[in-house]
Amino acid sequence: MKIRSQCSICGNDSFLEKYHFKDYSIFECKKCHFIYRDRILSRKEDESLYDKDYYLNLQKEYFINCLTPNPKDKSRLRDFNKRLDLLEKLLGRNKKIRLLDIGAGTGAFTYLAEKRDWQTVSIEISRFASGIARSKFNVRMYCGEVTDKNFEEKGFDVITLWEAIANIEDTRLLLKTTRNLLNKNGKIAILTTVVDSWLFYIADVIRLLTLGRVTYFVKEGYPIHHANHFSRKNLRNVLKSEGFKVIYTDNVEIPYKYTKLPRSFFPVLVTFGSLAKLFNRTIQVMIIAEKVK
Ligand SMILES: [Zn+2]
Repeated sequence: MKIRSQCSICGNDSFLEKYHFKDYSIFECKKCHFIYRDRILSRKEDESLYDKDYYLNLQKEYFINCLTPNPKDKSRLRDFNKRLDLLEKLLGRNKKIRLLDIGAGTGAFTYLAEKRDWQTVSIEISRFASGIARSKFNVRMYCGEVTDKNFEEKGFDVITLWEAIANIEDTRLLLKTTRNLLNKNGKIAILTTVVDSWLFYIADVIRLLTLGRVTYFVKEGYPIHHANHFSRKNLRNVLKSEGFKVIYTDNVEIPYKYTKLPRSFFPVLVTFGSLAKLFNRTIQVMIIAEKVK
């Protein structure tokens, strides 16, 4: 087992142990306050996290509507189409858009982009999900990590990381790689969970009020799958330091039906979500940044 000896963002080697769970701990950098998982997972460990069970049981609510091109509930596909509309607005539609989707899951997003005549490549570490992408969605999919593959430099207009950046061990290497793969003024689009959110705060209050006995909600926020835990601020900072300029930000509250939260909570949660949006405290953020010189 390899333990992270330095903060993945600023390189500082002193940290606090923020949480200790059975199999891993969560550290906070004393210098820049970046939060990260203590251990670095091997490729084999990483791959084993995203097996069939992850898609069909553990994250069932999240993936059930993107396992086939024609699911009963089309809300996930509508959500992906909205993101494509936004990217088309920012990129312009006067030429064929070349897209690389990193952590592409089952390939539903690139499938919809292909339907709009984009030229796409998907990459996904899960053998199970990449198998679905090939067999059900018929998209061009590589199973592995973006750094495995010698993609053409400056070969893409846009690179998407939908709920993937937190799961990838080396943020700086990832951003350097994507920067090389983007053409001039190319865009990177990121959707990720952020720790400066009210739901993370509430989870921590529950842990404190129960004198550390109820850690279920905290652990939901810091699952072993996430290597890095960004705040809105340090995500913007790391993008800037790797040569990107943020051109679009949207605070997003995750649709509650994709979570395990009880349905009876939904009306209260919708109000909560609107307020969180207003106060920049949603659980997710979508950021689009442009490659600068
Ligand atoms: Zn740091």
